[in-house]
Order: sequence, then structure tokens, then C-alpha cells
Amino acid sequence: MTFYYDYNMACSACPEITPLTSTDYHREINQAHVACHGCGADIHFGRAVMALRDADDPVLDDDYLTAVAWYHTSTCSDWPAGSRTIPPAMFEAHRAHMPQDAVERIRVRHENQALHLGTYEAAIESMLRRMRDQDDGGAQFFLYRVALRTADLTVERGWRDENTDDAARISQDDLGDADVVRYLNVFESPGSISLAVRPSAIATIQRIDLPISTLPRDVEPSLLVKVGKLRVEHDQWEAERAQLKPSRLELLRREASTRREASPGHRSRVRRRRLPGQLLRLLEEQYLSGVSEPVRERFTGAVGAWHSAQELPVSDTDYVTRYARMAAILTRHQHVRHLLAVASAATGV
Ligand SMILES: [Zn+2]
Repeated sequence: MTFYYDYNMACSACPEITPLTSTDYHREINQAHVACHGCGADIHFGRAVMALRDADDPVLDDDYLTAVAWYHTSTCSDWPAGSRTIPPAMFEAHRAHMPQDAVERIRVRHENQALHLGTYEAAIESMLRRMRDQDDGGAQFFLYRVALRTADLTVERGWRDENTDDAARISQDDLGDADVVRYLNVFESPGSISLAVRPSAIATIQRIDLPISTLPRDVEPSLLVKVGKLRVEHDQWEAERAQLKPSRLELLRREASTRREASPGHRSRVRRRRLPGQLLRLLEEQYLSGVSEPVRERFTGAVGAWHSAQELPVSDTDYVTRYARMAAILTRHQHVRHLLAVASAATGV
């Protein structure tokens, strides 16, 4: 289990599975088309035809499923309790334009949602996606480790396909007679199995703050020297560019920006120093070896969202330090998993 994995694509014409490397997948080779290994039919590859990564995934076995650790990331420090209460702002927003009984149904549904657990990779990739896409770049995240009950647990046979079956956003009622439902995750660590569970299926929960403040302890001074050089080159280039006569597009952009800043309700932010593109490549090489291209892209977007979310200017050293700490969650996953496994257990689901 690492952040370097390939993909399997399903064919609509035959049951054969067609493997695809993470690089080919990421670069969408051949306009995202590949010939089926079974019948030769053309497959337009992507999430919609994502197949199970490992047809013999051991978690398809109920005993194994309850013996291994499951993971979840959240901005709630008291997940799952905190996540199951509808946020007051959301409640008020619904109340402003909906009849009372409709709002009540939304509240009940929210508080009755199934909980979602996944592999370590799926939990971390979910955090990276939320940081980038859901305005959580600056939020404190927590990583949870969950052990399921081993006795009297009803696990639904087989697995649901997130593309075609209800799985990702279901209520406890949708679980039917089951306490645990397996599903194919096509968004986070695509091709892995995630679980939708009742809170009562959980035996113990452990929690750790992300990133781990001691991992790694220091950024190598030689790297900071390289970063310093890149910064000087970049600033020189920016200064030279500023002396050129601005293009018509640039003038329009500046005008729009002045208008935006003058508009009521505009929240002025600190002027950010832009990150040189070469800096991102340097850090990827230094810290993300063994991480696949799709995950690298998600990671870079997430750390960029962290950078944008900071109220105060971020020095290059601070940025590199944060980057290194976040990267350790991926590249030193065994160490992180160990720290979490020995954290004291909190219950109270
Ligand atoms: Zn086929």
C-alpha cells in the first residue's frame, strides 16, 4: 500500500479488465482511449469505467475486513460525533427559504448519514482534495484510525460500484440490514474499497493531528540554498518583466483588479509572493519520490491551497517546511500509521 499504484479499466463489451499505468492515466494518452485487452473494443478511460484495483482485494473477506485498520480524515476534532450535527449556518440557510418540515427532513437526513471509512491512501487523498477543492486549504485536519467491531457485525456481500450504485452519500437507512457496506471508490485512491458504516459498527477510534509536527525535523540547509537561488532568479525575472511596456491584456487585468478592490465587501489580502514554477519541481523531486503523477498533482494543489489560505505572508522556508511535513504523510506513511496506532484510543461514537 503506497501512493504509487496503477489502474484497471472495465470494458462495456466484455468482462476483461485492462490495466493502465498511473502515468498513462494521468497524461490521458491517446486522448484517454485504450484498446480492451480482452476484445479490443475501444475504452474511453477515466473514473466512469474504473474497476477494482485488486480483484482479490483481501478486504473482500469479512474476517479480514474486521481485522484491519480503517481510516478517515476530517476537519472535526470530535469526528464522528461533530460531523453528524448539521452545521448551524447550513441549518439557518435552509430555514430562510424552506418550509419547516422540509428543513426538518434535511436535518434528520444529515444526522442519519452513514460514516465513511477507507484505506490510508483514500483518507489522505480525500484530505488533499478537500484542501484544494473545498476551501479547506488552511484548515486543521485530523487523521482517524478506526477498528470495527468483530462480533455481531453484518457486512453486505460483495461490493457496490460507486459509479452505478448508491454508496458515497447514503443514510443509515440505505444500508438496509447491513452494518457495513463495501464500495468501489472511484474518487480517492481510485480502485480501492471504501466502507459506509453505521456508527454502532465502530469499536475504537484513534486520532492524530495532521501534518505531524516532528516529521521531518528539519529541512536540509542545502535545499534552502537552492530555493534561495531560485527565488533571486525569479524576483529578477519579475522585475525585468515589470519594466516592459504592459500588454493590452495586462492593462485590462490591472483595471479589473482595481475595480474589484474598490467594490464593497472586498477583503484585502496580503500581496503574495508568487511561487516560482521551478521551486515546485524542485520540491517534487526532493520530497515526492515514489508518489504517482495523479497523486503528485493533487498534493501540489493542496499545498498551494494552504499557501493561498494564509493571512500573513509565507516565507520560502515556511513554505518548504510545510511542504516537507505534508509530503511525509505520503512518503513516511508507515511511521505515521505507527504513531496513530499507538495513540490513545478515544471512544464515544
Ligand atoms: Zn472488452
